[in-house]
Amino acid sequence: MSRVGLCGSDLAMVYRGMLGDLVIQTPMGIGHEASGVVAKCGSAVTHLKPGDRVTIEPGNCCGNCDFCKAGHYNNCVKDNFYTMSMPYPRCIAHYFKHRGDLCHKLPETVSQEEGALMEPFSVAIHACRRSKVTAGTTVLVCGAGPIGLLCLLAARAMGAKSILVTDVRPERLETASKMGADFTMLVGGADPQKEAKGSRR
Ligand SMILES: [Zn+2]
Ligand SMILES: [Zn+2]
Repeated sequence: MSRVGLCGSDLAMVYRGMLGDLVIQTPMGIGHEASGVVAKCGSAVTHLKPGDRVTIEPGNCCGNCDFCKAGHYNNCVKDNFYTMSMPYPRCIAHYFKHRGDLCHKLPETVSQEEGALMEPFSVAIHACRRSKVTAGTTVLVCGAGPIGLLCLLAARAMGAKSILVTDVRPERLETASKMGADFTMLVGGADPQKEAKGSRR
């Protein structure tokens, strides 16, 4: 593996030993936002070869449940992203064995670091699609953490005209500005209504 991001879920497992209802029972690794270089391929893999740089989709869908059949394999009822978090080794490792169809070759122009961001970036793209962001849209992003910042980039790439990012921490808003937010707003103060009126955009 080349680069692996640390998700909030990883930190919860490290520091609290649990993630939502999921309590860690056995030793496990962390990391699911990852890029790597192919070391070896199974005989049925035709789209990749050793040496290819790849990003991975974390998961191990069954291919047969209603969700998988409908193409929503990220929601697979049998073996989805979250159940993966318990019994499987994770990506912070020298080697990670993964299904070929969930490994995607990175273009020349995409670095290993960027490759590791593909999973969280897909969250941002999904959010923008659900919000129907298109050319000229005005967008509000609540929270300038990694996912919020990626939503900012995705919304911009989809043509959003005006993007406002809010957060409770000023240093995060600085990053949002550097990354192209048109407006930022520090929230969490005593008078949210007043804050909201101050930015009708
Ligand atoms: Zn994550
Ligand atoms: Zn399934």
